[in-house]
Amino acid sequence: MPSKPKLGQNFLHDETAIRRIVAALGDCSRSTVVEIGPGRGAVTRALTQAAAHVIAVELDTELAARLREEFPPERLTVVHQDVLEFNFAAAAASTGEPLAVVGNLPYYITSPILLRLAACHAALDRAVLMMQREVAERVAAGPGSRDYGLLSVTAQMHGPVQQLFTLPPGAFSPPPDVHSTVIRWRFAPRFTELGVDELSFLELVRSAFAQKRKTLANNLRAAGVAQDAVALGLELAGIDAQARAEALSIEIFADLWKALRATAHFEPQHAPSPKAH
Ligand code: SAM
Repeated sequence: MPSKPKLGQNFLHDETAIRRIVAALGDCSRSTVVEIGPGRGAVTRALTQAAAHVIAVELDTELAARLREEFPPERLTVVHQDVLEFNFAAAAASTGEPLAVVGNLPYYITSPILLRLAACHAALDRAVLMMQREVAERVAAGPGSRDYGLLSVTAQMHGPVQQLFTLPPGAFSPPPDVHSTVIRWRFAPRFTELGVDELSFLELVRSAFAQKRKTLANNLRAAGVAQDAVALGLELAGIDAQARAEALSIEIFADLWKALRATAHFEPQHAPSPKAH
């Protein structure tokens, strides 16, 4: 069956990399692991040996059917669905514990998948994910670096991210145009610890990074925050009036959120919610 580039089908054939991906999940002998995009089952085969049960979410009809033929249902549940619509909360509720997630991601929707996992954090324990190297660098970047931005703050607000190893295009068939990096992301959200409301904090971060060339103050004004409130908020948070969002650590973003809330902007829409496990 030919691969479908539109679905990001670059199949991994490096056995060492497959072993390292599964090992990076840690002990999952009593856990259910959700695999995103199992494809022809390269990772799935090793995973079904290591995990108590695997739920594999695959959009491609033929690949999903082939996986159902190859693996017994007691080891693998194949869900033929777009992972962006997969109900992680229901899966975690049915297993009774937060899930481990693994995936050699379809690169055309890496960011939406990361944002979806972030939004489902209460159902998740950890994720080991392969993505385009440049995206992994953005996810793991710290303040002040060229790669630091919305994806970095959003991911790291939901828990620490570690880059594990990088693979050349030749590890895949067909080879993609880019190098690929595997990351591990432990879900340990920081909203309660930093005293910020999740939804309005993430809204503030989105506004702050809206236009990379603009200063933080200009981006906030463009998002509808009054000039006086911006000036006061930055001053209260101890941020230079000319600063750009790329310079702000997560802790300073939290200070800014609190300072702007004091000026009646970015009001919490929901009370801060502790992680559900
Ligand atoms: N895990 C396999 C491997 O490592 O060889 C395949 C990885 S391939 C990079 C990405 C897989 O994600 C493909 O099997 C593709 O069909 C599947 N996929 C693409 N879009 C998807 C989506 N929206 N939801 C679920 N799976 C998707």
